[in-house]
Amino acid sequence: MDAVCIKCGGEKKEPMKMCAHCHMLPETRAERILSFGLSTQCIRQENVKKASKYIHKKGKPPKLHTKVRAKAKQLAKAYRQPIDSSKSMEFSASFFDFNDLVIDESSEEVLDIVVVHTIGKPADGDFGSISKGATYFEHTWTIGVDIAQSEVDRFADPDGELHVWFRWLQGEWQPKFVSKKEFEQLRELSQ
Ligand SMILES: [Zn+2]
Repeated sequence: MDAVCIKCGGEKKEPMKMCAHCHMLPETRAERILSFGLSTQCIRQENVKKASKYIHKKGKPPKLHTKVRAKAKQLAKAYRQPIDSSKSMEFSASFFDFNDLVIDESSEEVLDIVVVHTIGKPADGDFGSISKGATYFEHTWTIGVDIAQSEVDRFADPDGELHVWFRWLQGEWQPKFVSKKEFEQLRELSQ
């Protein structure tokens, strides 16, 4: 998957192409920035997949990290719809600047999102409401913001997802990474 439809999360070959699933075509500047930002032109392929999953699940695209956004903005700005050759003399200087925008493989990857299943902590984190109901939630966390890459490397299950058991200890919520199996046992116990 090289690109994703920002409306339905469907797979696309190229960010500026029309979505084969819902026929959404990125036309506004904002749509183009988002479409480039959620493609392999700006982020790793595995993150494009995560973005697709996120859109399917949430019905909206994830936010772009500032650095991804900056790159996507440049791509959107430089993007020209296919032009017939009779108009080729109208290519502006900025069109040629596009060639400088080769993706720097060493540049910092930033839109790293990970699906995290949590149990034990109520939605609003209010200890008093714990008896009111469900404490199982599925979140999409941003690596480097909500969770460290080292924790993801160490604790992610083979699907790349994480399971966290929140316990109220010493006056605050303490996360403990558990295996998927342990998590499912906790979930059964809590029901
Ligand atoms: Zn679509």
